[in-house]
This record gives sequence, structure tokens and C-alpha cells, in this order.
Amino acid sequence: MYDVIVVGGGPAGMTAALYAVRNGKSALVIEKDGFGGQITHSPKVENIPGFASLSGNEFAEKMLDQILGQGAEIEIDTVVSVEDRGDVKVVTTEGESQFEGRAVILANGVKHRMLGLPGEEDLVGEGISFCAVCDGDFYAGKTVCMAGGGNSALQEAILLSEKCKEVIMLQDLPYFTGEESLQKILFARDNVRALTGVKVTGLVTKGGELTGVEVTQEGKEPFTITCDGLFVAIGLIPENEAYKDLADLNDWGYFDSDESCVTRTPGIFAAGDCRSKSVRQVVTACADGASAALSAIRYINALSV
Ligand SMILES: Cc1cc2nc3c(=O)[nH]c(=O)nc-3n(C[C@H](O)[C@H](O)[C@H](O)COP(=O)(O)OP(=O)(O)OC[C@H]3O[C@@H](n4cnc5c(N)ncnc54)[C@H](O)[C@@H]3O)c2cc1C
Repeated sequence: MYDVIVVGGGPAGMTAALYAVRNGKSALVIEKDGFGGQITHSPKVENIPGFASLSGNEFAEKMLDQILGQGAEIEIDTVVSVEDRGDVKVVTTEGESQFEGRAVILANGVKHRMLGLPGEEDLVGEGISFCAVCDGDFYAGKTVCMAGGGNSALQEAILLSEKCKEVIMLQDLPYFTGEESLQKILFARDNVRALTGVKVTGLVTKGGELTGVEVTQEGKEPFTITCDGLFVAIGLIPENEAYKDLADLNDWGYFDSDESCVTRTPGIFAAGDCRSKSVRQVVTACADGASAALSAIRYINALSV
């Protein structure tokens, strides 16, 4: 039996484990993919206090080393359910393992929003990508489109513009919403083109691979842009449905918890991007991890008196 089981090994989950073990509690972090979460998609992070600049992967490695060094345990698997049996919580994984814990911290983050177009799911990895760091090399010397206009889209496009022949930004609003400083860097590059007020309304394929996108601009006929790849950065959605019997969700599907990270079920806590909040960043995720762990520790200590 663990004191604390953490679902998700992003910045929130790893910080929660750090605070739990530093307070004498045993902690298991279950991560389905790669430790570090979303920040591993960022090649250059410059707003983590104490680090002038480092890659998301470097940051993730440092956090993982730190929690392992402090005695946290880790497991690579996908959590499929969390059951509340009062003082004991049972966490079940896709690999059919079951772990018991006194408290569970849900730090399962968010996933990429899709465009919702026919055939889109099948093209992921065959022309559609969400991660320039991971897949950018496949498009070196080629033409790619980027759907989105926020910070993530701009950051990803900057990276792509260093490798690709051309990067075409497709933004449905009349303007880009990401930081001015990122826009300046991106749009100063000769191989970057921007179309605003356009919606991606179709995917053009040949032999099961993407060869272009159909876009629609108000008052005009839809037209096709030939490209080798489409990167999508149009926001994030939480994956909290599996836990809705344990924790309230707000209208957008985020855990409806405040900074204490407490949910309506005693012993279940929610931390990081998966929680209702206005700023989703590494520092706020880490802050939640600390708060959730301290709330969990208070809960566990109260059980044993
Ligand atoms: C491209 C990009 C660039 C960014 N740049 C910056 C930046 O420069 N500065 C900054 O502060 N923030 C940045 N962010 C935001 C930052 O990465 C997030 O706010 C932060 O990672 C949130 O941490 P988290 O732990 O709450 O969630 P996540 O990072 O989403 O981690 C959640 C983890 O849970 C795992 N998980 C989910 N479901 C399960 C399950 N069922 N079982 C097991 N594991 C599960 C996921 O695999 C994931 O690893 C960026 C994000 C992106 C996408």
C-alpha cells in the first residue's frame, strides 16, 4: 500500500511525488507516455525560475532524477480507473496492474484538441502532427501548414521554420493571439506565410497520406493549399471523464477544484493543467503538485489518529 499514488508524471505529478516523499510518505507515480508531460514538446523553455534557458526534455529529466533520488517509485502504464473504497483507493491500469493507496492525486494534464475533420484521426503520424520537436525532422525541406495562432502554434512554427522549406500559418481569427515577441521572431522569417480568417475545412490525401488542406475564407470559395504536413496547435482538452464519479468537472471538463486541489471525494486530489484555473504553465502545475501533496498528507495523517 502506498501513501500517495499520482496519476501522471508531468510537472504537477512529479512535484506532488517530491513533496510526498520529502514529508516521509511513500509515493508511486504512474505515467502512460513519457515523464515530463507537455513541456517535453518545448525545445526551449525560458520561464522556469532558476533556469535561464533549457529544453523541456532537460527539465523533465532533472525532475525525474530528483524524485527518484528522493525515493519516489514510478510505473509506466495507463491508469484506466480509480476506485474509492473509503480509506483505501484502488488504481487499475491498462496493463491490468492494481495499486492500493491511501490518497490519489490526479495530475493527468490535458491532450491536444483536434480539428474534428473526417479522416483526421487516421492521418495522425501520416501527415498530421501535434509536435514539431517530435516530428519536425520528417518535414525538413518540405512545406507544412500550421493550424492555430496562439503561443503553442507560434513556438512550434518557429521551430519548423528552421527546417522546412515553407511554413504556412492558418489562423481562423483575424489576428494571432500568441505573444508579440514570438510573432516578431516568426514573421520576420522569409519562409513563413500567414493566412488569417481562414478555417481548415478538409484534408486532401493521396494513397493514405496527406497532400494538402482545404481552407475556407469567409465570402470566398474553398481552396486547397498543397503541403506535405499539417501541424495542429488549436488548444488542449482535459481527459477527466474517467474520474467524473470521484471529482466534479466544470463545463469545459476540467476538475472543479480550487488551489487546495481537494475534490468532493476525501482522499482524491486534482493538480495541474487538468484542474480549473486561469494560467496553465509549468510553475502553476508545480504549485498545484505541492498543494495537492500537502492536502493529501494532511488527509493521510488525519486517517491515522
Ligand atoms: C508545445 C508546448 C510548449 C509549452 N511551453 C511552455 C513554456 O515555455 N513554459 C511553461 O511554463 N509552460 C509551457 N507549456 C505548458 C506546460 O507544459 C504545462 O502547463 C505543464 O506541462 C502542465 O503540467 P501537468 O503536469 O499539469 O500536465 P501535463 O504536462 O499534461 O502532464 C500530464 C501527464 O499525465 C500523463 N497521463 C495522462 N493520462 C494518464 C493516464 N490515464 N495514466 C497515466 N498517465 C497519464 C500524460 O502522459 C502526461 O505526461 C507548454 C506546453 C506545450 C504543449
